[in-house]
Amino acid sequence: MRNIALREARNLLLPRLVSGELDVSEFELGAIEMFNITGDRMTIPMQPDEDGYTGRECPECKSYFKIVFGTGLKDTTHCICPYCGHKSDHSQFYTQDQIDYAMSVAKNYMVSELQKVLKNAFKPKRSSRKGLISIEFKVKTGRLPPIQFYQEATLETQVECKQCTLKYAVFGVYAYCPDCGIHNSQQILEKNLELAQKELDLTATVDTELAEYLTNDALENVVSAFDGFGREVCRMYADKTASPAQSADIRFQNLTGAQNNLQKHFGFDIAGSLSPSEWSAAIRGFQKRHLLAHNSGVIDDDYVQSPMMQRQLKDVKSQSRRVK
Ligand SMILES: [Zn+2]
Ligand SMILES: [Zn+2]
Repeated sequence: MRNIALREARNLLLPRLVSGELDVSEFELGAIEMFNITGDRMTIPMQPDEDGYTGRECPECKSYFKIVFGTGLKDTTHCICPYCGHKSDHSQFYTQDQIDYAMSVAKNYMVSELQKVLKNAFKPKRSSRKGLISIEFKVKTGRLPPIQFYQEATLETQVECKQCTLKYAVFGVYAYCPDCGIHNSQQILEKNLELAQKELDLTATVDTELAEYLTNDALENVVSAFDGFGREVCRMYADKTASPAQSADIRFQNLTGAQNNLQKHFGFDIAGSLSPSEWSAAIRGFQKRHLLAHNSGVIDDDYVQSPMMQRQLKDVKSQSRRVK
């Protein structure tokens, strides 16, 4: 009886323990499933961070991101890498830390089960037949293999996808939604424009000096948000153009430069949907921001020599002549 119990335990446990052959199998939200000693499935829940995010690692580009399970698309089993767009089953996106953790939980459990079986098998029994040699085995229970706990990393940007409501976190700013796959560049742009609008709204409630600071800051933010958006979109579609390297490097802080480059590489007119006066106002705003950012408000030649400024200067001169 003891022999059978021991043999069973050894046959079931040891090969798996020694070879570390623990199957990371079917995916369950936020958990790793393995097979336990009797071949049943064993579910080991992942440990989300304090904000509810669980780490993921792209099997293709090996980059790290996080998502909140339970948000986003219902009943989805796939995951999309926010950086490279690689799509495969969620079970392919475990991080090494999570696998190590699940392995250590499984090993800890299996060794503790093994110890129970052995202890039971060699439980000392009182011998009823005197005169026979009796050998006593004692099973000492050793230390269980330690559990390798882990902590999810901190990432720069948290996004809630406006299309599928998935909450995810990434390095940098721009990303594909890991659930529905939509790119967040437009969402990020809109959010930044909203923030700039809030700054402008605030100017009505503060003194002149602070109002001027807020206006300048809002302008700065709008230009850098647009620059980031434009560059990201060009980067995404650059490989569809004749000169990908140049197309991926278009900058948007100078609107007329960007307009020319877009026309050249993408055959697209950025001003196409604007009236001439809207386009002029945008150029003027971007030039003003250039001054604020690079010259601390000291007017530079580019700005003064721009046709628009020349026209404005002429107007001011003729007005002042009239006043005289
Ligand atoms: Zn990837
Ligand atoms: Zn989404």
